[in-house]
Amino acid sequence: MRLNYYEIEKATTALLQAIGEDLEREGLKGTPERVADSYMALLHGYNCSEEEIKILLTTFDSEAYDQMVMLKQIEFYSLCEHHLLPFFGQATIAYIPNERVAGISKLARILDIYSRRLQMQERLTDQITNALMKYLKPKGAACHIQAVHFCMRARGVSKQNSIMVTNSLKGIFLEDAQAREEFLELAK
Ligand SMILES: [Zn+2]
Repeated sequence: MRLNYYEIEKATTALLQAIGEDLEREGLKGTPERVADSYMALLHGYNCSEEEIKILLTTFDSEAYDQMVMLKQIEFYSLCEHHLLPFFGQATIAYIPNERVAGISKLARILDIYSRRLQMQERLTDQITNALMKYLKPKGAACHIQAVHFCMRARGVSKQNSIMVTNSLKGIFLEDAQAREEFLELAK
């Protein structure tokens, strides 16, 4: 357990004081506790170790299936590490098996573990394909993420409709133009 509930609660009280708010105000009474609760949920990926990710990607015989396996438009929520503001969107994850396949729900679970941490979209995209390459050992792994970032929309350059797109392509998806195009076309 890496997250310290009580320290988050204390820090939220300090933040409210720094904002100059009245801590006794009705609406703010339970706020430090509620913020700590939210962070426990938003950052629960820290509680999952590398070993658990490895176990999660327990494989089954692919029974000669050797085409692309893809889970499309899986929604996720994350927090950008630069501003601690939310970014969220959809990820599409694919791999081409090398005699072994993983339970399809595991792809969504991997996304969950990595997105529920302080993140950068680029790193998140890469961590997913890295985990697949390392533990599932497929012929190739690919991840496509489209997300909206609050730090872009609500502050700074304030661009309301911008969507950030990242791709991570490994193995055959990087080497073979046809595999790459097929993935990018299906991931749209
Ligand atoms: Zn940001």
